[in-house]
Amino acid sequence: MSVVDRQEWDVVVVGAGGAGLRAAIEARERGARTAVICKSLFGKAHTVMAEGGIAAAMANANEHDTWQVHFRDTMRGGKFLNQWRMAELHAQEAPDRVWELETWGALFDRTKDGRISQRNFGGHEYPRLAHVGDRTGLELIRTLQQKIVALQQEDFRETGDYESRLKVFQECTVTRVLKDGGRVCGVFAYERESGRFFVLEAPAVVLATGGIGKSFKVTSNSWEYTGDGHALALLAGAPLLNMEFVQFHPTGMVWPPSVKGILVTESVRGDGGVLRNSDGKRFMFDYVPDVFKEKYAESEDEADRWYEDPENNRRPPELLPRDEVARAINAEVKAGRGSPHGGVFLDVSTRMPAEVIRRRLPSMYHQFKELADVDITAEAMEVGPTCHYVMGGVAVESDTAAARGVPGLYAAGEVAGGMHGSNRLGGNSLSDLLVFGRRAGWHAAEYAQSLAYERPPVDDAQVNTAAAEALRPFSAETEGEGGTPENPYTLHQELQQAMNDLVGIIRREGEMERALHKLAELRARARRAGVEGHRQFNPGWHLALDLRNMLLVSECVARAALERTESRGGHTREDHPAMDRAWRNVNLLCALADPTGGLAATDPARGQIRLTRETTDPVRPDLLALFEKEELVKYLAEEELYE
Ligand code: FAD
Repeated sequence: MSVVDRQEWDVVVVGAGGAGLRAAIEARERGARTAVICKSLFGKAHTVMAEGGIAAAMANANEHDTWQVHFRDTMRGGKFLNQWRMAELHAQEAPDRVWELETWGALFDRTKDGRISQRNFGGHEYPRLAHVGDRTGLELIRTLQQKIVALQQEDFRETGDYESRLKVFQECTVTRVLKDGGRVCGVFAYERESGRFFVLEAPAVVLATGGIGKSFKVTSNSWEYTGDGHALALLAGAPLLNMEFVQFHPTGMVWPPSVKGILVTESVRGDGGVLRNSDGKRFMFDYVPDVFKEKYAESEDEADRWYEDPENNRRPPELLPRDEVARAINAEVKAGRGSPHGGVFLDVSTRMPAEVIRRRLPSMYHQFKELADVDITAEAMEVGPTCHYVMGGVAVESDTAAARGVPGLYAAGEVAGGMHGSNRLGGNSLSDLLVFGRRAGWHAAEYAQSLAYERPPVDDAQVNTAAAEALRPFSAETEGEGGTPENPYTLHQELQQAMNDLVGIIRREGEMERALHKLAELRARARRAGVEGHRQFNPGWHLALDLRNMLLVSECVARAALERTESRGGHTREDHPAMDRAWRNVNLLCALADPTGGLAATDPARGQIRLTRETTDPVRPDLLALFEKEELVKYLAEEELYE
């Protein structure tokens, strides 16, 4: 067995996107020696791709905006399944987190009178997204990185070592959270370039690993999104919450095939872009559901007037929450009214002068010009739904971001569940990363400090087990079962196809059952996933290890989606098309069937996930009072209304 290097830290943050960096800054500022570990290059996390903006009720563009209105919009968007305390904290704290970014050097676009500009987005009652053109994520990461460097310089002045209190391990992948009894004691990781294994010992670990999109064929997500943090939590004994809720963003590119799924930001619609079918019809007026009817325009004239006069007109239906728009596009294509390449048309060219389009949507202009040879200032884009975001995630305590049931484990950002309920509003992720990244770093640091004199030890046996698990793909050939190793790339493609076709945007019972059978077959084959060559930068090996995670989270998604017999937010059942109030207060929790955290012991054909139901906490009365009674009647379960 190889010798494994060890280092001691107080807090280890897994992930260097918005959530991870904000957590690391907070933990370090509260006195914890903090390590950040990420599988991409530092600064290359998925957050960089965020385009439209950060949602925060700063009331710069409309003085009526408040945290209460933001809370209301978030709960409506999530169809009331949100962990309401998270939605409350998020709406209250988001403005401070945006201001804080400014003090750290972020340069947001401005209003004419010099305030931070805020733009419209689907489901937000007022213009609320602070933005930097359509490259907001880049500025967010740049600012947080700059803050990290500033802290390291401060540490250098005091200790003579830049990395004495805050160190980034880039291009390193964590494969296991290590535990001492029930408590966290560190992580096991490998360096992608050298294949070298190492252990970071720490009493507190923050998971900030982002989403799961790479389990689906058509996705806007980057290569990192293999559900690692979700799987690490499960394997450490923490449950995942409501994994059936996967957001299919309505507008991804559909052509050419090599770029299918790449995101077309919602800002295009927020800034005036409209959706049309092959008959040239603005079809979204036909798809406004009853719960939203009072808030959306009934005619094109009213919708267009809203951009200039939002006080006296209702918003265009193109700005309905994402789940509604994605389903509408899907229905139009299915009805034969789609564009030549299986999407619909999204047009800004007839709505804004060319120079305004180039200024407000520079990334979109270049994306279509370079990838599809389409000039969006002169012609419509072709767009269709793409797997974009997972609302489900690690079940956490709202105030502390502590993962349920595993002392020392925390989760923030896309990997954490609860905040967005069944559907996330655009812009609410970047603010979520900052609000809960900070909270996770704060509480992880406090917890680690409480164990300063009794740090949980890391025993050799589990390090050896983790190393053996990671090395397994190199010896797959000799393990029998036909003797032929499976190609990890083939397994990945089959997984993506199955999830796309059988647990995608519109779901049916029979198809999800087929998906579970397919997953069982893939799990069995994945145990024989073999790779050739060495541990030095070997992408096939990396993928073979990631497959364990994608198979685990895919099973969670499929099992939970089969269980929830209603349609709500990012979960649409053709066989149960309506939202059912009886499901409003039901959470679905996924846990590992083998509570010891082993996978080898479970029979791959029987599945590795156990599903349980729990009743959600009742929403606090003063928060319920923010809604009209007639609206609550549409959402709340019978017994909740009675109370
Ligand atoms: P990430 O930024 O993805 O960071 C995850 C980190 O974890 C990475 O550093 C990765 O390397 C690391 N990691 C993963 N697994 C491991 C492992 N096993 N070991 C070590 N490290 C690991 N949201 C908005 O609010 N507004 C927007 O305008 C917006 N636009 C978007 C545009 C696009 C194209 C996309 C795809 C998403 C957009 N989103 C937007 C969503 C938002 O960008 C993400 O939800 C958010 O950035 C997730 O941040 P995070 O910090 O949770 O994870």
